[in-house]
This record gives sequence, structure tokens and C-alpha cells, in this order.
Amino acid sequence: MRATTLLNRVLDLPKTTVRDVEFGDKVTVWVRPQQRVMSCPHCDFRTRHRYDTRMVDSAWRHLDLSGRVCVLKLRRRRLRCPEHGVLAESVPFARPGSGFTRDFEDLAVWLAGKCDKKTVSRFCRVTWRTVGAMCARSGRETGPRPAGRAGRHRRR
Ligand SMILES: [Zn+2]
Repeated sequence: MRATTLLNRVLDLPKTTVRDVEFGDKVTVWVRPQQRVMSCPHCDFRTRHRYDTRMVDSAWRHLDLSGRVCVLKLRRRRLRCPEHGVLAESVPFARPGSGFTRDFEDLAVWLAGKCDKKTVSRFCRVTWRTVGAMCARSGRETGPRPAGRAGRHRRR
């Protein structure tokens, strides 16, 4: 089995294909989007038309692989959103404006609710300020908790 095939199965990234991999102090995985349609990271706008041929080199830290830092790299296409202007396309595996994948952020946010900041910071090998930003992004995505659930927790 090829290394890229193995990583496609292990990482299981949504609508993304592993193109190449490099093993060193960290695992660097080059990926490409499966869809021709690009979407704006800030709204629902979608288009097949690129703004230009310039690419935006981007990297996201993913969950560690066998104790090594794993970084996903992608050359993103640029699109022109009527509302937000010219920007790099969104990716299905990370929240807009984040240097971490959604899986990595979800793990850090979950841990932040279970243990102290020093533990989260050491376990994820990021600063506590970074964990705070992840919590904010995750909170914006899910929104405030429904009153019924919050009320139930208060009664206990
Ligand atoms: Zn937009």
C-alpha cells in the first residue's frame, strides 16, 4: 500500500485527497481539494471561477501522528466573493482564519472543558492563548447553548 493511500484512510479528511507526504521531525502531508467548486470562507458563496492563477500556500496543524507533529499543506486557489472580495478558498477540514484543523481544535476545546489550561497547553503543545482562540472559533460555530440545556446543568 502506498503511503498516500494509507494516509487518505488514516486521516479521513472530508472532501480532500492526500497528494504527497514527507516524514521528518514532523509529518508534512500535501493535500488537494476534491471539488472544483470553491467556496468563500465567510459566507455561502460558491463559484467555479478562479479570480487569478495566483495560489496561496497554507498550512494547518493536524492531530499528531505517532507522537510527531502533523502538518497539512495546501496551495489554495483565490476567488472573488461579491460580499467579501478576493480571498483564498475555504477548506472543509479547518475553520476560517485558523492554523489548525477542525479535529485538532475540537480536541483542544474538549480538553479545555475537562482540565486546567496548563495541561491542555502541554498536551496539545500550543500556548494557552491559542487554545482560547480555538474555543472562541468553536463557540462561534456552535453558537450559545440552548436555555433548556443550560438550565438543566444549573439545577444539578
Ligand atoms: Zn463571502
